[in-house]
Amino acid sequence: MGRIVVISTGGTIASRWQGAGFAADAHGREVMATAAVPEGVSVEIVDLFSVNSPRLTTHHQLTLLHTVHEVLADPGVDGIVVTHGTDTLEESAFLVDLHHDDPRPVVFTGAQLPLDAADGDGPGNLHDALLTAATTRGLGVLVAFDGKVHPARGTVKTQTLAADAFADPSGDRIGNIGFGRVSVLRQPQRPVALALPAVPGAAPRVDMVMHHADADPLLLNAAVDAGAQGIVLVATGAGNATPEIVEAVASATSRGVLVALTTRVQAGPVTEIYTHGGAVDLVAAGAVPTGTLRAGQARIAVLSALLATTDPRERDRVLRHALGEAVTADDRPAAELVQA
Ligand code: ASP
Repeated sequence: MGRIVVISTGGTIASRWQGAGFAADAHGREVMATAAVPEGVSVEIVDLFSVNSPRLTTHHQLTLLHTVHEVLADPGVDGIVVTHGTDTLEESAFLVDLHHDDPRPVVFTGAQLPLDAADGDGPGNLHDALLTAATTRGLGVLVAFDGKVHPARGTVKTQTLAADAFADPSGDRIGNIGFGRVSVLRQPQRPVALALPAVPGAAPRVDMVMHHADADPLLLNAAVDAGAQGIVLVATGAGNATPEIVEAVASATSRGVLVALTTRVQAGPVTEIYTHGGAVDLVAAGAVPTGTLRAGQARIAVLSALLATTDPRERDRVLRHALGEAVTADDRPAAELVQA
């Protein structure tokens, strides 16, 4: 069925007991040895790193993105599986998806139970990811987990411990895995891929600030003072905060900081309904609403816009494009910022 390259990055699927807790330390070969390989599939392993995903940096994520592109430069490769920690899997998968312009799949997977667990979920997830990589086409970057296939865009970790750890709370999954096959239920909506960014010496700083009752603009202003070029405001409800935070957002955007507006609510879109500090005013102050994308993926969209160009107007366009906004001809990012 195909030649699949497994890129191993660590996570619980590669974690063992360290005396005081679990941590990633296994190589890709050891992770791969736990799983059954679907018939007709041949596997090659790229050992990229072995870290738990809360420790990943932008540099790690861009290294992974470039590795995916290098692997796919070989026309003999049929697909890629990335083994990854589940904590920030949604961020890395979305980054790769934003820049993925190839019918061959890149399938992320991981585990909730460690490498040596007798009843672990890693081996089954890895088998399913290999099957998905070998038998699907044209679906973009995917997450295969607990017998389900999700599109990278919109999918988040929804369970801290349970095996059924991923879903898009605002959307549907793409497929199911069972009885040796993948059933594809729908085609995901994906904007034209962004051009591959260079790996900068120092990645732009993109901070997240969460709103809550009694919050003031101190942390948002501190992010700007710390040199943030992008900020994700994780607002309440459909995207609301306070008049003082609106003022801080206006001041940040007037200084060229890209501000994205998402919500701490699990599902549903950010929507301009309320004034007096609500989304109506935050958007008027220059914040870009992120639809149904949640904080981690909103941050990746901001990061990709910052990496694409230094031009503030183009950054705004690239961000809206990455968020999947329907853009008019006038609002399209410059041709060199998207893949042909
Ligand atoms: N709990 C995480 C995992 O599933 C730890 C990590 O993200 O590395 O892998």
